[in-house]
Amino acid sequence: MARYIGPACRLCRREGEKLFLKGERCFTPKCSFERRSYVPGEHGRAGMAGRNNRASDYSRQLRAKQKARRVYGILEKQFRRYFKEAQKKHGLTGLNLLQTLELRLDNVVFRFGLASSRAQARQMVNHGHFMVNGRRTDIPSMLLKMGDEISVREASRKNTMIKALPDLSEGRPCAMWLARDLKALNGRVLRLPERGEIDGNLDEQLIIEYYSR
Ligand code: SF4
Repeated sequence: MARYIGPACRLCRREGEKLFLKGERCFTPKCSFERRSYVPGEHGRAGMAGRNNRASDYSRQLRAKQKARRVYGILEKQFRRYFKEAQKKHGLTGLNLLQTLELRLDNVVFRFGLASSRAQARQMVNHGHFMVNGRRTDIPSMLLKMGDEISVREASRKNTMIKALPDLSEGRPCAMWLARDLKALNGRVLRLPERGEIDGNLDEQLIIEYYSR
């Protein structure tokens, strides 16, 4: 599956806020956004003045959509597909969309606190370290549902990085809609996340407006 392979920090600067794409580094003075909080490119610094005041409706809708895509690391085609599926479901389209994004396997691994960023979680899934309901999977976009069980594969438990996971993850929070057992290196999806449990400063209404033009 294709993915963005350019510099992650550039995306934060483009969106004008920290998207926390690089795990622990985002909380240190090494964060690029802390040092250069203007838009990347030749006209970035000069173009900042009054930029937000001039933003058109379209621009705000586009930025809201791009930000959500970048937070979850999803390309346009797939993001649009998620939106169309969210529209077809019962309930609020915006909430349906965010819940779909949250239920991706790479995001769930991140929300368990087993990875410091979604990018790292995605790599761990790609390397085949996880099983869903007892079956090995290496598909980060796999959508989970209520009751699904996720565990680290037996063969992966000898891996140095996986061995260190219980200690590494201890200080990382686990989402309320998930249950994890760090000693056993497994967890479960208890229920769908509520809107208040989905952070990232996302504006789903603007995303709906963007795709409804
Ligand atoms: Fe964004 Fe993290 Fe890079 Fe800072 S370190 S610019 S928060 S990805």
